Amino acid sequence: MSSPAPSSLGSLALARGTVDRVTARRLDTDWLDAAWKDPRTRVLVVSDGSALVREDGDHIELVFVPPDQAPPGTRFLLGQDSDATVYFGVSAPLPAAGGGERPASLREVGALLPDRDAGLLTHAVALANWHDTHTHCPLDGSATVPDPGGHSATCPVDGSEHFPRTDPAVIMLVTDPDDRCLLARNAAWPGRRVSILAGFVEPGESAEQAVVREVAEETGIVVTSLRYLGSQPWPMPRSLMLGFRAQAPAGQVIAVDKEELAEAHWFSREELLAAVQARELALPPPVSIARHIIEDWYGGPLPSTWSPPLR
Ligand SMILES: [Zn+2]
Repeated sequence: MSSPAPSSLGSLALARGTVDRVTARRLDTDWLDAAWKDPRTRVLVVSDGSALVREDGDHIELVFVPPDQAPPGTRFLLGQDSDATVYFGVSAPLPAAGGGERPASLREVGALLPDRDAGLLTHAVALANWHDTHTHCPLDGSATVPDPGGHSATCPVDGSEHFPRTDPAVIMLVTDPDDRCLLARNAAWPGRRVSILAGFVEPGESAEQAVVREVAEETGIVVTSLRYLGSQPWPMPRSLMLGFRAQAPAGQVIAVDKEELAEAHWFSREELLAAVQARELALPPPVSIARHIIEDWYGGPLPSTWSPPLR
């Protein structure tokens, strides 16, 4: 049985799933067919990274439909709860919203949903993103056929099997000898938004090598001592964020790569708090691992989020 996986960062918004993925059932067509016929089975419809949610005061939850009301679309098994309820996802246009219901993106509600629902939506969005963009065999261009559980696909011509893609990315908080934190503003971000540095792991590269390379490329800073903190999926569209701390030895000057970053600066805890309170800076939202890494360094919660929220 799955349970929220703790990291040194505490509970990360998108790493809280509680539903057993029952991986052994993914090719068990009898079991899958029986589950799909069971009216207790719950189906989560996802479209373009969003699903329907229902809000009641402070409580927000996913809206599921029974299998016979699910729209046609690519189907995939999400798992089975401790009460034996089976969950499927379907990638299809969202059903009409009922009273108190509305479409919401994972980015918007990932930190607000309860553990079970946050895990199901993260899983469903990640799989739907893969199905939506990997429809053909990369070897011969034939349309692939999803396997019964929807966690792989097979080419009917050459028999090659294809599996969901996850792109590892590193995200790292760099400190100087005074324990100041390096925050940067991406060239593509408007206004006051800042965050820590991040980048994709390249083929043939370790996560640690990617941290060193990305920090040097983006800021000219050479880091030495790395420490892994934890990870969370970020299926927007298909990343796994690997969080690190890194130290920058003294005597270095920031040289920003203007193609990637608009600016980057060192902040003490006092400077960061003052800048956030003065609304000179806005930090990433709680759904992101970046926010957790920054608050882990800071030593507690910080005010401010990106505004308006990124959808
Ligand atoms: Zn093929």
